[in-house]
Amino acid sequence: MNNPLDLSEVIESTREILAQLLAMDVEDISVDASITEDLGADSLDIVDLSFQLGRRYGCALPKINVLDHAQAVCGSVSAFISGGGLTEAGIALMRGSLSAYSAEQLRLGMRPAEIFAATTVRNWAQQCHNLFQHLPASCPECAAKHAQLNERHQVVCSGCSARLSPVDGDEASRRLVQRFVAPDMKAVA
Ligand SMILES: [Zn+2]
Repeated sequence: MNNPLDLSEVIESTREILAQLLAMDVEDISVDASITEDLGADSLDIVDLSFQLGRRYGCALPKINVLDHAQAVCGSVSAFISGGGLTEAGIALMRGSLSAYSAEQLRLGMRPAEIFAATTVRNWAQQCHNLFQHLPASCPECAAKHAQLNERHQVVCSGCSARLSPVDGDEASRRLVQRFVAPDMKAVA
């Protein structure tokens, strides 16, 4: 099914949730602010943000980071992290992840903790938005193929108005890693 979410609206929701969590004005939360470095969010705030975005949109965002998924899928992250820092393939992996890191956010040799620290409001909104690229092929209730937003801006089936949820965020993230490494695996075989 199509993804009916509008990224700019998800960005607005993310800013509103953060403003409430961090007791800040929405105007002071810029889309390219780092959640931890610029806004001072701690790990509990981030768990809360993930939970509230998930509740708002009806999805479960990933709990495990992309590099840990790569470790599980590939048995090692050596293709992506070398000498403690990102490789070219690691940069491509982060860019292709649900969080859709931009080229400007990443550099060769960047450490995983630095990537985490550089994660912005936009990355969080992207993660939620991109997860809705992983809706079921058709509505589980009525088999219609089109998704839309209802008046409360929730993702619903255009046929029967049932709320639609994408695949679990960790499953989506794992699939993206698998798709990313598949060509390499074929080359090896
Ligand atoms: Zn339906």
